[in-house]
Amino acid sequence: QSQELSQVQIDYHAALQALVEDGTRMVCTGRMHTDRICRFESLCYSTEAEEFVFFHSNASVMLPNLGSRRFQPALLDLSSVEDHNTQYFNFVELPVAALKFMPKPVFVPDVALIANRFNPDNLMHVFHDDLLPIFYTMQQFPDLDLESRLFFMEGWSEGLHFDLYKLLSNKQPLLREQLKTLGRLLCFTKSYVGLSKITTWYQYGFVQPQGPKANILVSGNEIRHFSKFMMEKLNVSLEESASEEYIVVFSRTINRLILNEAELILALAQEFQMKTITVSIEDHSFSHIVRLISNASMLVSMHGAQLVMSLFLPRGATVVELFPYAINPEHYTPYKTLSVLPGMDLQYIAWQNTDQENTVTFPDRPWDQGGIAHLDKAEQERIIKSKEVPRHLCCRNPEWLFRVYQDTRVDILSLIQVIRQTVKLKPGPKKQKWTSDLYPGKVRDAKCQASVQGTSEAKLSVSWQIPWNLKYLKVREVKYEVWIQEQGENTYMPYILSHQNHTFSENIKPFTIYVVWIRCIFNKNLLGPFTDVLLCST
Ligand code: UDP
Repeated sequence: QSQELSQVQIDYHAALQALVEDGTRMVCTGRMHTDRICRFESLCYSTEAEEFVFFHSNASVMLPNLGSRRFQPALLDLSSVEDHNTQYFNFVELPVAALKFMPKPVFVPDVALIANRFNPDNLMHVFHDDLLPIFYTMQQFPDLDLESRLFFMEGWSEGLHFDLYKLLSNKQPLLREQLKTLGRLLCFTKSYVGLSKITTWYQYGFVQPQGPKANILVSGNEIRHFSKFMMEKLNVSLEESASEEYIVVFSRTINRLILNEAELILALAQEFQMKTITVSIEDHSFSHIVRLISNASMLVSMHGAQLVMSLFLPRGATVVELFPYAINPEHYTPYKTLSVLPGMDLQYIAWQNTDQENTVTFPDRPWDQGGIAHLDKAEQERIIKSKEVPRHLCCRNPEWLFRVYQDTRVDILSLIQVIRQTVKLKPGPKKQKWTSDLYPGKVRDAKCQASVQGTSEAKLSVSWQIPWNLKYLKVREVKYEVWIQEQGENTYMPYILSHQNHTFSENIKPFTIYVVWIRCIFNKNLLGPFTDVLLCST
């Protein structure tokens, strides 16, 4: 491995001089350790101490300079999983003078992205925690281009899906263990530390039961942009004119099996009059699976990490997720949340086995495959009797593991019925054009005019101009929402209007000041911003 780094020539003497004279320089974005990414020059790493080192000189820079708050709890999260205490990053500090007594530094010439993978053997974690965050962290910082190099510091070996990580840059990613072979003191000329969390949509239940993240910031557009990048790297081309429509059953072969898979495939093929094929991670290459999924009309699979591959489905396709007995689909929604992201344009359907006769349990397996033999008898009995796993925290809840690793005989009639409630005719991409949803701008030139009739009646005429961007758009339906509030009151009267002016007379009193807000709404649910408040005196 050690010859790896010498691909880019650097002037060793100049690099050493920069380190000795300028020390380490760090400038970060983000206000807290959970949203921070730092850019470093001359960040070093001692492979013996397994510690990052910040060298202080007169010219070194440390922003933010947190003092001892740097340890409360850390400078930043190295993985995209928020505030996980096994994923923190920090460095130790030394004066540059200490270099005299240290091993000769080996310089890393490539721009480095230094991060942790969270769980590289699980496909959902690979995509959600690592690949998407790495991809968009690289988009955020222009020097993290295809010539930059990934450094994975979590300490795992390559893992099952290392080939996928290799697609993100032209240089071989390096693992923590491999750093030892490069030298005792490594110094990264230029590096970024930490990952953007902007694309993550799910929290795994470390502090509260699992579920969608509270504030999802990613839409289907960005997911699909990433999928397209991966497909290009995998040499999978999108077939625009799909020759034949088909259904993919993504099967698991080791555990959480569909026991009547052959029957299921026949039934799907017959019901939808479509070819139906199975794939599995064990039997097919990744690019083969991606090629099939990217043109499929429907993807059917047991709940499980392989379902993250639905991010390769074409718009309009249907995802059918099967849940074993006693697993409430509403409580485990990583793949549902993905499918229903705005702009993913997938139809999502969950089916659950509700018939205890159709489930096969494995109480005698090891605990991490759902065995419960290690629990006391009363607890085992309670679990076996229970009809639903109660909400729980990650990751070792034995009742959850027991239930999620059941095999299932799928009740074909009930499954088809559930799918038919959503898919009326044929599943799969409609020939319709997908337009992105654009929001209205502010309405313009809002004005009001009051007229008083006698001592008890008044009218308020409000008018405005269309939002500026509307004249460039084709919008099916344009409406306006007007709120009228008597100054100083807490309540307001909302109105939905179709025209650009309206005279209000209901509940309008003379000699009163009204506060008026107006916004435009496209197609019922695309709400624009309100105007600045309009003050109207009658
Ligand atoms: N896996 C698989 N076939 C199996 C069992 C597991 O391909 O029969 C894959 C699964 O897709 C995931 C990894 O192995 O990428 C770990 O599976 P596990 O059951 O631990 O996690 P889950 O799928 O529940 O997230």
